Amino acid sequence: MKIKSVDLYSDVIDGLLYAIHDVVLSGNYILGEQVAKFEAEFSNYIGVNYGVGVASGTDAITIALRAMGIGEGEGVITTGLAPVAVLTGILRAGAFPIIIDINSSYTMDDRQLVQAIKDGFGHVILPIHLYGRPANMPEIMKIAHHYKLKVIEDCSQAHGATINGQKVGSFGDAGIFSFYPTKNLGAMGDAGMVVTNDEQIAGKAKRLRQYGLVDGISIEHGFNSRMDEIQATILRCKLPLLDTWNLARFSNAEYYNRRLPEYATPDLVAGHVFHQYVIRSSRREQLMKTLNDKGLQTQIHYPYPTYLHPAYNWVKSFGDLPETIRASKEVLSLPIYPSLSTEEIDYITDVIHSEATNYEM
Ligand SMILES: *Cc1c(COP(=O)(O)O)cnc(C)c1O
Repeated sequence: MKIKSVDLYSDVIDGLLYAIHDVVLSGNYILGEQVAKFEAEFSNYIGVNYGVGVASGTDAITIALRAMGIGEGEGVITTGLAPVAVLTGILRAGAFPIIIDINSSYTMDDRQLVQAIKDGFGHVILPIHLYGRPANMPEIMKIAHHYKLKVIEDCSQAHGATINGQKVGSFGDAGIFSFYPTKNLGAMGDAGMVVTNDEQIAGKAKRLRQYGLVDGISIEHGFNSRMDEIQATILRCKLPLLDTWNLARFSNAEYYNRRLPEYATPDLVAGHVFHQYVIRSSRREQLMKTLNDKGLQTQIHYPYPTYLHPAYNWVKSFGDLPETIRASKEVLSLPIYPSLSTEEIDYITDVIHSEATNYEM
């Protein structure tokens, strides 16, 4: 049996080709009716007033920061078990990242957050809802209000994730999303969005995505970062299925947890949307090889914390970040996509158990 780590095709719905066909015939391909409708539908789904479609999640980080007036010389506190895209997005806004440690659920450690703020770092807090697990937003917002800092949530792995029924992306001053094809809600190319309840942030993000233009006149230095009509129509077709897909991911995670009682498995907290299903093993490399030899694809998210990549090794971390380092050496992502069957999970977990038996002998 061969199992890929992600399966993007099997869930694609009827109607997608017709929708794309209509866009092709419309003669309008950038920032048109489809983008405007998707912005309205997605921001409504998240429960905020505004959505601004941009070209990628990385761009959404840069544009959200700039739209809040954050730039040169200002610090953005975030975590390091993440894609380097987070650093790219922050640095391109002119701001500098300060990396703090994660807690046992792979999200921002709020005690260290307070420490970093007290030491004089940071103008913005950028929590990441990693693997689809919401960061502790009620606590982070309390800290942000106390110290008068702004918050941007990186929801690129958490479309539809909730805390007490409230969607992530609606807690902070702004939220950003990536619609990269492998995300829980994925386009067939690149796309991203900034969501916010703040009219000024939304207005400024709208200008910044297109050369700072207002009525054809550039009033501030901006970017070229637009969402296109084909991506928007694809995302509109898929959005109504997102909750069903997220529930399928959750029940796959539940099933895995039952089959892997001896492993450090993720908590099944309500509102988790399991972008990744991540276990930990001190013998990760051997385990990965055994699975791979049997045709079972796994991935590591992430083998290098962002601030240890050669391009960014000058970026400041707040101390040694032991939890981040340890996680980067032990985490392993098993397939979790919505169409994965329980038979496939049985097979994957059987191979994991057989590997453990071999090791003991
Ligand atoms: C995917 C991702 C991004 C970057 O999104 P792109 O659309 O690839 O630019 C940023 N942050 C997180 C947490 C992501 O998972």
